[in-house]
Amino acid sequence: STSKKLSLTNRIVIGMVAGIILGTFLKLAFPENAIVDDYLTNGLFYAVGQIFIKSLQMLVVPLVFVSLVVGTCSLSDPSKLGRLGGKSVGLYMITTAIAITTAIVLAMVVQPGIGIELTAETSFESAEAPSFAQVVVDLFPSNPVEAMAEGNMLQIIVFALLFGISMALAGKGGDRLKGFFDDLNDVIMRLVMILMSLAPYGVFALMAKLFAEIGFGTITSLLKYFLLVLFVLLLHALVTYPVILKTLTRLNPIMFMRKMRDAQIFGFSTASSNATIPVTLEAVTNRLGVHKSVGSFTVPLGATINMDGTAIMQGVATVFIAQVYGVDLSMGDYLMVVLTATLASIGTAGVPGVGLIMLAMVLNQVGLPVEGIGLIIGVDRLLDMTRTSVNVTGDAMVSCIVAKSENEFDDEVFNDPDAK
Ligand code: ASP
Repeated sequence: STSKKLSLTNRIVIGMVAGIILGTFLKLAFPENAIVDDYLTNGLFYAVGQIFIKSLQMLVVPLVFVSLVVGTCSLSDPSKLGRLGGKSVGLYMITTAIAITTAIVLAMVVQPGIGIELTAETSFESAEAPSFAQVVVDLFPSNPVEAMAEGNMLQIIVFALLFGISMALAGKGGDRLKGFFDDLNDVIMRLVMILMSLAPYGVFALMAKLFAEIGFGTITSLLKYFLLVLFVLLLHALVTYPVILKTLTRLNPIMFMRKMRDAQIFGFSTASSNATIPVTLEAVTNRLGVHKSVGSFTVPLGATINMDGTAIMQGVATVFIAQVYGVDLSMGDYLMVVLTATLASIGTAGVPGVGLIMLAMVLNQVGLPVEGIGLIIGVDRLLDMTRTSVNVTGDAMVSCIVAKSENEFDDEVFNDPDAK
């Protein structure tokens, strides 16, 4: 019977835990063993993990484009689009601002940077935050094929929206095309499900490789920083999100978290909100009950512009670096940090490690030494994974709030524990 079979989510959890255990074991039992390194860590695990991530990424552009075209042209009322856009961008920015403010306040209380010695100078390229006008101009593709080839999510979203609206307006031809896109969407979603069924192995390989290689030596000296970022991430995911969700929608946060587990694990093991889009979209539309017309817009948008977890790391890191270098930041500086971090997240894609590039912009903006990033880079990988889980959770939560407020939400699906 099917009830005896382990659910996919449980198999993914098992894959993750088994990978962590095996990787840690290999690291302790066979340190610097050439056979283990060549054939397992950089052989089998590397190959399986990379193929898994690449096949997810392979689906992102076609999935976002097709599902967004279908979603847009099936909106009952195209004027809804403006409202949808406004609400989601607004909520994404507000949650990010809350995240980084919490992080800064807690970091000022805990003072993770006090007592850290400045040792070897490290270098890190400085980066300028783009101007607001440039961010807006960059939303528009001059060549949609180029945008797709580069995986420029915001440009793909803009093209898909315009294409979908035109399809809805184009009469018979548009109707025929809609049938075609509907079918295409079904086929791509099927491919997502096939890949999902292989996820336990992919997640296992990614974790085994990571834990066989990761060094915990640096974490001990940065323990305060590391634990504080982790703590604020958990606080945001397990307290702030549930409170916001409950207050704005009356939806049950426990049910929400349960249905997000797959996407959270994908985010954790890939460290990329972008690569996780297919899984987040599946959870948001099939399990949480957000209608496709909303989810196909809010999810890829969120994966690009909404990074609450990343903002949290930036908040703690800024205070940390200021303390290590003995720089006093004013209230105005901190406001600048919140503003820059929130705006910088709009223009940057959710891929591994991008948070550090955004951090460089923030440090630049308030005149802190960008080399400070060298201090925390050693412990960033695990934090990157954790904050990506938070990022995708935030994308899904905002999707639920927006869908609920637009009456594009199915409560029955949400409340059905087994909805697929
Ligand atoms: N890896 C994160 C994401 O994809 C971004 C970051 O914090 O580096 O959401």
